[in-house]
Amino acid sequence: MREVASSAELRAATDAARQRGAGVGFVPTMGALHAGHRSLLTAARRENGFVVASVFVNPLQFGPAEDLASYPRDREADLAVLAAEGADLAFVPPEGEMWPSPPEVRLQVGGGLAERLEGLHRPGHLDGVATVVAKLFHLVGSSRAYFGQKDAQQLAVIRRMVDDLAFPNQVVACPTVREPDGLAVSSRNAYLSPAERRRATALYRALEAGRAAFRAGGRDPAAVEAAARDLLEDATGVAPDYLALVDPATFEPVKQAEPGQVLATAARVGRTRLIDNVILA
Ligand code: AMP
Repeated sequence: MREVASSAELRAATDAARQRGAGVGFVPTMGALHAGHRSLLTAARRENGFVVASVFVNPLQFGPAEDLASYPRDREADLAVLAAEGADLAFVPPEGEMWPSPPEVRLQVGGGLAERLEGLHRPGHLDGVATVVAKLFHLVGSSRAYFGQKDAQQLAVIRRMVDDLAFPNQVVACPTVREPDGLAVSSRNAYLSPAERRRATALYRALEAGRAAFRAGGRDPAAVEAAARDLLEDATGVAPDYLALVDPATFEPVKQAEPGQVLATAARVGRTRLIDNVILA
């Protein structure tokens, strides 16, 4: 595996791969790589001749009171994971390479994607995600890009960005990887104390209760949400930000529960904010 820090080297390497006839698979990450990231790399490896991963903690997507400074960073461990998962190229830019100065021109997410759930609770977050992914897509060029269903609203934003702005990138969604007790694997799980780690399982248990209500025939969105919310609100030490059944593309509320819709939640466990979702099936 080759490691590059400059945009020019990244561009040259992906151009060369395409000229050789290899399809390019791209996995953007913020590092602290775990089993969720590894599943994206596995899918990218399976479906492309050349796999590039980026590791960049993007300051644009953190709010002023968020965890940018403390976000886990372990460059050597990340490079070892990328090499072990068969990535061909690791793009690990210093902040000054991606943003020599804060960009004056940025993407702005609108509609329900901006106004609901993560859009509402983390102002500017999704704009920052769209802006950095747009830049990375320009550098990597035509490719299949792999994103986790875990960040369902981010996934919807990227899909919409690709459609609205005609990016030559194909978005591939990969299922959420979970711990044996159901907790979605996340870099932020490292912040949890042992007691918080046990409490954090409430998110997935709540979502599963909502999905069970749907499977049992519940079609009223409020009833599906209530089944989940009851469990979440009863959990000690877990403070929900939101819990909602939404359309997977627009993140608008739905009139009737149907397969494919997303039941999404965010909650604080101690000082750590966790998100998770399930797809109704
Ligand atoms: P991050 O490094 O947290 O920005 O995540 C990079 C990519 O990994 C995003 O597409 C995430 O959705 C994805 N990801 C994070 N956690 C998981 C997980 N538990 N399962 C699947 N994908 C994940």
